[in-house]
Amino acid sequence: MTNDVNIVGGLIVTAEGSFVGAVGVQGQTISYIGPGHDIPASRRTIDAHGCLVMPGMVDSHVHVRAPSFAHREDFESATAAAAAGGVTTLAEMPVSDPPASDADALRTRVRHAAEHARIDFCFYGGAGADNLDAIPALADSGVVGFKTFLMPPPEGREREFYGLCAPDEISLEQVLRAAGKEGLFVAVHAEDPETIAGETRAVQASSVKGLDAFAMSRPPRTELIAVERVIRAQKRTESRVLICHVSTPEAVDRIREAKAEGSKIYAETCPQYLLLSQDVVRSHGPFARVKPPIRSEALREGLFQRFHNGWIDILSSDHAPYRLEEKERGLENIWLAPDGIPALELSLPLMLEKALSGELEYEQVVRHFSENPARLLGIYPRKGALREGSDADLVVVEPGAPRPVILDSMWTKARQSCKVYEGWTIRHHIRITLCRGRVVFENGDIRGDPGMGALVTPVQH
Ligand SMILES: [Zn+2]
Repeated sequence: MTNDVNIVGGLIVTAEGSFVGAVGVQGQTISYIGPGHDIPASRRTIDAHGCLVMPGMVDSHVHVRAPSFAHREDFESATAAAAAGGVTTLAEMPVSDPPASDADALRTRVRHAAEHARIDFCFYGGAGADNLDAIPALADSGVVGFKTFLMPPPEGREREFYGLCAPDEISLEQVLRAAGKEGLFVAVHAEDPETIAGETRAVQASSVKGLDAFAMSRPPRTELIAVERVIRAQKRTESRVLICHVSTPEAVDRIREAKAEGSKIYAETCPQYLLLSQDVVRSHGPFARVKPPIRSEALREGLFQRFHNGWIDILSSDHAPYRLEEKERGLENIWLAPDGIPALELSLPLMLEKALSGELEYEQVVRHFSENPARLLGIYPRKGALREGSDADLVVVEPGAPRPVILDSMWTKARQSCKVYEGWTIRHHIRITLCRGRVVFENGDIRGDPGMGALVTPVQH
């Protein structure tokens, strides 16, 4: 049988190893992977000599927020950014207005996403003290996991955070138990609210201003205290937990210890914690404001070393888009800026830069940004694998001349807020992205139409 697409001559990168060969696609799935001399003929052949051929990335932590807040981002712009960045599946967080904390709100958001997405997507449900009853119905509606914060809803954003907060240990345990019953994991934003409240009062009374003040209000122990609390709760429940955006080496070590003791606990980090340090971003002020904060160079180095060692399971972008005007509110007063860096489309190219400098291997990028997230989300090996029968989600990357990151050429609506990476050098250029066999990005152009993307649900449901 004739293939629809053959990608030949490239370096095929999987989590297990790399070899020069070919990938064939029939319809929406991979029909061939091998050396290439025995591949069936195809309607279209992509010559990938000199290029990397990888499974599409699975970004397990994205905030599109649509249909609300469309001025910041929507599924058309976010999934254009994803396609341009080699991401073929994104997992949308529940935070929105209304949030995906009950089955009706989830269904509305999924329907909206299905009409507008250019690549495939999954959804998290919200799980908190105030929506425990909604957890089984959310699970039945196809969420890949749940998201929980350890703080009360932030002032002024109570509606967005309904069903998302477990501010004490009892409610955290209830959330973990309820999600565990459904066989789904809980992704936890792990920062201790009491430490933050005390430190914030102290720093606001001092003369420290700007991003330094923000970082001081959330010192490394904030994360460690919260991680300890999650580990305790996990041990008392039949549950699986992902600690989101880990920012300190100490937290990684603690998670690793708990894992060695048998806890089903996993760690996620993001490019901003692996690539940026407070010294580099200080001058960017509100544009570098994220939670947890970007750490010192010593902590960044420690975190990167642990990522290199394979001790951090998952890489995600935590893409959190805000308009320039919204971020600029923090120029005079850092406390007024919203949190987030919109780097969905830069995460893969920026991490591949570290392969050029010898600090990472290509296989590690695939393992932590494609295979491991797909496994945790319960969508492996349909996603996150280069195998016959897997979805034909593929990205062809061309190593080439250095090009600077230009914000105007980015696809996210929040491009002007991505100042922390402006001018950074990229030498791995995404040439073609395929999602389920269809070209969604090629040579700088978005080809995937809105509505081509579909909801992906975990296999156990
Ligand atoms: Zn997030």
